Amino acid sequence: MHDLLIHNALIVDGTGHEPFMGMLAVTDGRISFIEPEADPLPDAREIIDADGKALMPGIIDGHTHYDAQITWDPLVDPSPSLGVTTVVMGNCGFTIAPCRPADRDLTMRNLTQVEGMSLQALRDGVRWEFESFPEYLAMLERRGVGPNVAAFIGHSGLRTYVMGEAATQRAANDDEIRQMADIVREAMRAGAIGLASTTSEAHNGDNAIPMPSRLADDREMLALTGAMGETGHGLFMLTGGSKTTLDAVEQIAEHSGRPIRLVWGFLDNPARPGGALKNLQRAAQIRERGRRLYPEVSCAPLTMDFTLRNAYPLEGYGAWEPAMTADEADLAAVYRDPLFRERMKEELERFKGRRLFNSDWEKVTVSEATSDANRALEGRSIAELAAERGQHPLDTMLDIGLAEDLGTLFEAKLLNSDETAVGELISDPDAYIGLSDAGAHLSFLCDAGFGLHLLGRWVRELQRLSLAQAVHKLTGQPAQIMGITDRGELAVGKAADLLWFDPATVGRGAKRRLHDLPGGVARVTTPGLGVRGVWVNGVRMVDSDGVVRADRLPGRVLREFAA
Ligand SMILES: [Zn+2]
Repeated sequence: MHDLLIHNALIVDGTGHEPFMGMLAVTDGRISFIEPEADPLPDAREIIDADGKALMPGIIDGHTHYDAQITWDPLVDPSPSLGVTTVVMGNCGFTIAPCRPADRDLTMRNLTQVEGMSLQALRDGVRWEFESFPEYLAMLERRGVGPNVAAFIGHSGLRTYVMGEAATQRAANDDEIRQMADIVREAMRAGAIGLASTTSEAHNGDNAIPMPSRLADDREMLALTGAMGETGHGLFMLTGGSKTTLDAVEQIAEHSGRPIRLVWGFLDNPARPGGALKNLQRAAQIRERGRRLYPEVSCAPLTMDFTLRNAYPLEGYGAWEPAMTADEADLAAVYRDPLFRERMKEELERFKGRRLFNSDWEKVTVSEATSDANRALEGRSIAELAAERGQHPLDTMLDIGLAEDLGTLFEAKLLNSDETAVGELISDPDAYIGLSDAGAHLSFLCDAGFGLHLLGRWVRELQRLSLAQAVHKLTGQPAQIMGITDRGELAVGKAADLLWFDPATVGRGAKRRLHDLPGGVARVTTPGLGVRGVWVNGVRMVDSDGVVRADRLPGRVLREFAA
């Protein structure tokens, strides 16, 4: 007798093989049976008719930043409701373990910008019941987790632990490198999935302090990845900056002998047409030389939500500085100042193509108006509205915000919004689809639903990938790249992580803002569409009406990975 039988389901098993109509059973948290649909049905305590809809392995989200959030929210909302059954944390090296009690505030200050959370939200939220990395994993296990969780040992956390304040100021000496390498070995033995780091200039903490790993030199990078390599398992995850070269990354792959997942120039940038595709081709040449280098791409536009109280996309401009340094009470006056507007327009013109925001006003829209009078503006672009009003688009955006006490929510699509280009990037069979950044940048984006977006937009609407290919890229492929042996495929004996969904309606819904972070701080989130059920280790976490069962924490802390 099985615990659960789901039948009349379109089974998409995560291997990339053709889907088939069948039935799947679960016993003791594992898949105990998979067969084509037939009469009579096998016996089970609970039987679900899947209504001909699809059943796939739960989505593995390899790029999350739930390290802090998971200490107060073991469900890591919203990922489970978006079909995710395994999250990997500590990406880019932003971890909170190891951390000495004396460095807690410093660690949180480093995390603020990167997490898109106020320092107060982190101070109110994080539960510090650990110091070392093994203690952190033990705490997660003791308190329980919603989905399965795996964690990187993070380079920035590690550096702060060994070097204190100096971690954000200088290169490490031999002794410090030795201490860090020892901690990497200890973490790998305790069950880290790998080592994660960043050299990206975009990664700054409170008051524009660089994230610690940005101060590492090549010697340190090679020593730490080498220490990971000695343990015989583990993935190196790196977000590369403008000084990172593929040659240097290849050297790390060669020296450590380990696979690398690289976030770098693999997002489509309208200022450099074709550049991302060329970078993918260079990565393919490196793989031909036997290095396991997996470029990380994204199937979603890099979209940021912002209000004029905190307009992150414009903060790369010097002329915007008065808006960054003004108290909230004085902000409106700054935005009304004709001189401020003049200087901004001049810089927007001068730096076109060289900033995060490149005057792509067609791609800035009014996402949420706060007044009924402006409701009709929602969904319309600033370019369009400015043309109607005969204004410079900057004036239009500022005037709309000023009329609503700076509460208007705008949306800017910054990178990866040309679907022809993105379609080519995600179709590369060795490209890793990730970058959800779930748990980070909470105040201005939410791509935790990237998997549902891939299934709705790229499979159903654009038919760029087959259902079998897309499911493989969300499950079997990430499991393989990251050495997660027990999951990512529907096969007898594997853990029963399941997503039941309707291919005709799957996707992610409109964004909304919730004020539910510690201290009432706001975040952006998107609901899942077409999700009928999500099971983690055979336990149902999400119902057909999309409700996450907060009373259930069926996830495991994953500690064993393939060599
Ligand atoms: Zn990240």
